[in-house]
Amino acid sequence: MSNNGKKTLPGVHVPHHKNTNDCVPQVMPVPDKVYISLHMHMGAPCDPLVKKGDTVKVGQLIGSSQAFMSARTHSSVSGTVEAITSMTTSIGAVDQVVVIATDGKQEISEEVQPPVVNNYQDFLEALKCSGLVGLGGAGFPAHVKFNLKDLNAVDTLVINAAECEPYITTDLRTMLDKSDMLFKGIKAVQKYMEINKVYIGIEDNKPQAIEKLRQESANDPTIEVVPLKAMYPKGAEKVIAYETCGKVIKEGQLPFQAGVIISNVTSMAFIGEYLTTGMPLITKTLTVDGSAIKEPKNVVAPIGATFKDIVEFCGGFKEEPAKLLMGGPMMGTPLYDVNYPLVKNNNALLAFAKADVPHYEETACIRCGRCVRACPMRLMPSLIETAFKMKDINELKALKVNLCIECGCCAYACPAKRQLVVVNKLSKRLIAPKK
Ligand code: SF4
Ligand code: SF4
Repeated sequence: MSNNGKKTLPGVHVPHHKNTNDCVPQVMPVPDKVYISLHMHMGAPCDPLVKKGDTVKVGQLIGSSQAFMSARTHSSVSGTVEAITSMTTSIGAVDQVVVIATDGKQEISEEVQPPVVNNYQDFLEALKCSGLVGLGGAGFPAHVKFNLKDLNAVDTLVINAAECEPYITTDLRTMLDKSDMLFKGIKAVQKYMEINKVYIGIEDNKPQAIEKLRQESANDPTIEVVPLKAMYPKGAEKVIAYETCGKVIKEGQLPFQAGVIISNVTSMAFIGEYLTTGMPLITKTLTVDGSAIKEPKNVVAPIGATFKDIVEFCGGFKEEPAKLLMGGPMMGTPLYDVNYPLVKNNNALLAFAKADVPHYEETACIRCGRCVRACPMRLMPSLIETAFKMKDINELKALKVNLCIECGCCAYACPAKRQLVVVNKLSKRLIAPKK
């Protein structure tokens, strides 16, 4: 049984700014060059399987690793490899990239074939070949997430369709435009992982998606669509597991240890598509929005396209942006400029004009307790800050700072504009075992 929305954890009400709700994703033209990173996932980077001068086709495998924790890399274009070089990607690391000069033909590789899947091991192999990583932002390799020693350990699949970050609407578009593939992916996971119950958690500011998925699953008692109160951060793993099916993921646990697999809704639809077509993960749909963007829209872009090319497809900038973000405003990563290539787990590019980027001065804590009331993990951020200043490791452990999901609710709620998330991140490092 779901908890029917009765158990809700704290959070903050943020302006939704879902300006692109009605924007059906548009496929951008193939750029002249793409820069495909060999490290778009958690774990070991891929080794290049191509060299300068090689011709490549769409969907061709161009990078892989022997490491278990890694994800394969495929070409998003047809063309000629111009270089294998290093560059800083939007995840902030300097990684190897395969630079491909495109030929505009977009010839599909002969390697692209629907996988033959008859059992759980075939399913895991298919996920590995697809290059899928968590598309909600984490970049966790899918074949690792779904690889369980004991299938009996998990009885529930939670589909994370909350999309609680302001501005971003790509998951909503998945639900409205690709629900057939979403249910195909869900049924495959249920079949091969022997999962009885599926909950799809959706914030209640997406009534059209709730209605559609409810209608399409009406005859399937194993699938339940659970509306969640539209309050950030309903899409955090620990929050959505609790609010959809009452599962508690404890400190240091992964979801499967609490009996649940959690998958982003767009990842699940991709599984359905991959099982149908065999086309690996070579494009990404992202929301391009913010007050500095001329034509906000949802864009289907080839992996490796630069943000510069993507912004040009959206009409360019209205004015020089004062702030660029990869991802949403609550948990996104600030970017220096638009010369970064798109990677698999980018789901938004936001650009804000100067008038919309206020400057805040940090002032003294006034002990108002708003940070505590806002925290979905029921932590005490003001006390954590004090313990951090004292470098009190025992107190930081007692205050359970490792449970912090870095959602930013405390900092958002704080009238003194304390940098509480930064403090929490540094506190976690302080108490981490030294290597
Ligand atoms: S302490 Fe961590 S989990 Fe709690 S509101 Fe702040 S960032 Fe979120
Ligand atoms: S919200 Fe800010 S000012 Fe209020 S108690 Fe927390 S840290 Fe202090």
